[in-house]
Amino acid sequence: MIDFSLTDEQKQLQQLARDFARREIMPIASEYDRLEEVPWQIVEKAHELGLLNACIPEHAGGLGLGMFDECLIGEELAYGCMGIYTVLMASELGITPILVGGSEEQQRRFLAPMTLKPSLAAFALSEPNNGSDAAAMHTTAVLEGDEWVINGSKMWISNGGKAEVTVVFATTDRQGGHKASVAIVVEGMPAGMSANKIKHKMGQRASHTAELVFENVRVPAANVLGDLGDGFKIAMKTLDKTRVPVAAGSVGIARRALEESVKYSKEREAFGKPVASFQAIQFKMAEMLMGIETGRLMTWKAAWLVDQGLPHGVESSIAKAYASEMAFDEANEAIQIHGGYGYVGEYPVEKLLRDVKLNQIYEGTNEIQRVVIARSLLK
Ligand SMILES: Cc1cc2nc3c(=O)[nH]c(=O)nc-3n(C[C@H](O)[C@H](O)[C@H](O)COP(=O)(O)OP(=O)(O)OC[C@H]3O[C@@H](n4cnc5c(N)ncnc54)[C@H](O)[C@@H]3O)c2cc1C
Repeated sequence: MIDFSLTDEQKQLQQLARDFARREIMPIASEYDRLEEVPWQIVEKAHELGLLNACIPEHAGGLGLGMFDECLIGEELAYGCMGIYTVLMASELGITPILVGGSEEQQRRFLAPMTLKPSLAAFALSEPNNGSDAAAMHTTAVLEGDEWVINGSKMWISNGGKAEVTVVFATTDRQGGHKASVAIVVEGMPAGMSANKIKHKMGQRASHTAELVFENVRVPAANVLGDLGDGFKIAMKTLDKTRVPVAAGSVGIARRALEESVKYSKEREAFGKPVASFQAIQFKMAEMLMGIETGRLMTWKAAWLVDQGLPHGVESSIAKAYASEMAFDEANEAIQIHGGYGYVGEYPVEKLLRDVKLNQIYEGTNEIQRVVIARSLLK
């Protein structure tokens, strides 16, 4: 059965996120991009409205929203600002390993407190010397009595150092490959853990990115998710899911690029008429709509598969790679349609291009998505 109509609840959720993006996010987006700071008031308001960490299941005190609903929210928030959306999205990225690999007791213990106040989570997989080859991790976890002792560093961690809960992926044996990996929940900033903020990013500057350093950080043994050796598997299963909200965000950016282009092209005149009257400009915008519709369909399909509990890894890779490349091209076209004015910060389109570039890199580069897709063809 195929049904593209949204339920009344979904329409309300979409409208809530749309209004929040327009009223709260858009007016401050460029200012926080310039400041390179997380607008904490947005995190607080998102918490009040139920838009923060909405994937936390009901048994842990959360709303338990599904992936499809998350994508409806994500498209709207990214329309407002991809950087601010990344703050919220990366929090769900940090929560997802606990949903994938944690017991119900662990989900309640780690996630219930996050529903009571505005809080963020973080996902710490990438390291200074290995990103795509995540199984080659160098960060070590050694069991001493009833504690894990973590040493090493994690690079490019969204919400790193600001999170109440950080899932750290580490190895118990550097020669053991992914079979020696563990996923450990670190609460707050225990002794020996520090964060170095990464500044001067190209885009998404309202999201906080940090290097996390672990020097003999001690964590209770009970904080390990799943069995010993499950760490890499939990990380991959997490990314199979969380690439879908990246796709949804990309669709949101592309929609913003198109709407800004339609508005501007009707106002801007050249040769005595609006530039929208030129077929060259009209065709660009027509193709932008074609890309948005295609990207949204792929996103919705992947989200639906996640919610049905059906295999979704390939479809989430397809949606993530396609939508982020489509949105990059569309942000680029939006600048072209704006002419010289598109190249400066007075109009929002140059920020769209700076922001969307990251969607092709994080949660697995688009080359890695192609590796996943090709592997499914050849197995
Ligand atoms: C702002 C920002 C936020 C981030 N947030 C997080 C986060 O919250 N948590 C986290 O863990 N990580 C995070 N990342 C890290 C991100 O996921 C990695 O940057 C990404 O996975 C790529 O790893 P790398 O940078 O080490 O590139 P590399 O792995 O060094 O890759 C370099 C190039 O080689 C290509 N390449 C590598 N292997 C292959 C292959 N087998 N086939 C074809 N091409 C290949 C890559 O696609 C890329 O083009 C973030 C990154 C940034 C920039």
